[in-house]
Amino acid sequence: MKIGIVGAGQVGATAAYSMMMRRVGSEIMLVDRNADLAVAQARDILDATPFADPVRVRAGEFADLDGARVVVLAAGSNQRPGESRLDLLSRNAEIFAEIVPAVLAAAPDPIFLVATNPVDVMTQIVTAIAGRSGIVSERVIGSGTILDSARFRTLLAAHLGISPTYIDARVLGEHGDSEVLHWSGAAAGNLSVGEVARQMGRQLTDADRSRIETAVRRAAYAIIKGKGATWFGVGAGLARMAQAIEEDERALLTCSMLTPECQGVRDVALSLPRVLGAGGVVKTFMPDLDAGERAALKRSAEILKEAAKGVRF
Ligand code: NAD
Repeated sequence: MKIGIVGAGQVGATAAYSMMMRRVGSEIMLVDRNADLAVAQARDILDATPFADPVRVRAGEFADLDGARVVVLAAGSNQRPGESRLDLLSRNAEIFAEIVPAVLAAAPDPIFLVATNPVDVMTQIVTAIAGRSGIVSERVIGSGTILDSARFRTLLAAHLGISPTYIDARVLGEHGDSEVLHWSGAAAGNLSVGEVARQMGRQLTDADRSRIETAVRRAAYAIIKGKGATWFGVGAGLARMAQAIEEDERALLTCSMLTPECQGVRDVALSLPRVLGAGGVVKTFMPDLDAGERAALKRSAEILKEAAKGVRF
């Protein structure tokens, strides 16, 4: 499978590197406004291929995206310290008005994987622009809370003393401040995380839950404070999504897509558990939520709906 990546900065290059290490794709084409950067990233990643997968990693122009089945969009500005993801919106919306038609001119029917922040509204923008060329919304997928869910699983795993691989825990709604940690559905095996804690001889108190919740919600701010930006988690998440598409895996991943209705809010892009296969999103699940989670998800959907109103696309 040929994969295009537009934006060869930290996120785009890390996605390419993760794909190569996971043996996803046979050819990866990096495109960036800064052509020298794209060439340098491609050469650097190519040097690692003898240790993993002999994928062809190259840099090129938009025209070189022809034949790409998956195109990652990671171009755009990054959050500055103290800035929320929604603050980035107008800067990145302008960039997408330029790059989405340029991708479609070369690759008329790709599956878009959107990483650029604010990722939910950017996903909605791509859905609108690509929709004019006949691309259905199931083929425009935002990384959304695949990253936040990974953070939730990692912190729960450390607290419970079991591998994150076996923890099924999801963050729903916005990839951002209003995200909803789905505590009532968090499980390992068929046990609730509270019961796992009890059987492991550990506590999972309200204070523990609150500490984990804050760490998940504030993770990006903390990482940005220390190193200026985040890229490894989302790069690995994008590689995982591309793998599910390449292998028609029907993997259940929590990611963003334009959703006809969520908690009474219509036509909003946000994250829910979704089945990913060769054609993109095959199915979306609405999880069982308690009353507090339902209200929080509605609020998150309303915030995203409001944010998208300010953009012309
Ligand atoms: P970066 O600045 O390192 O890279 C962005 C790249 O986009 C630059 O190389 C730039 O030249 C390129 N670019 C800008 N305009 C372009 C255009 N018109 N055509 C082609 N290329 C263009 O930034 P980064 O750290 O890689 O972050 C990229 C985006 O990903 C940001 O919006 C960031 O907030 C977002 N991000 C998302 C997540 C997530 O979970 N979804 C996590 C981290 C970062």
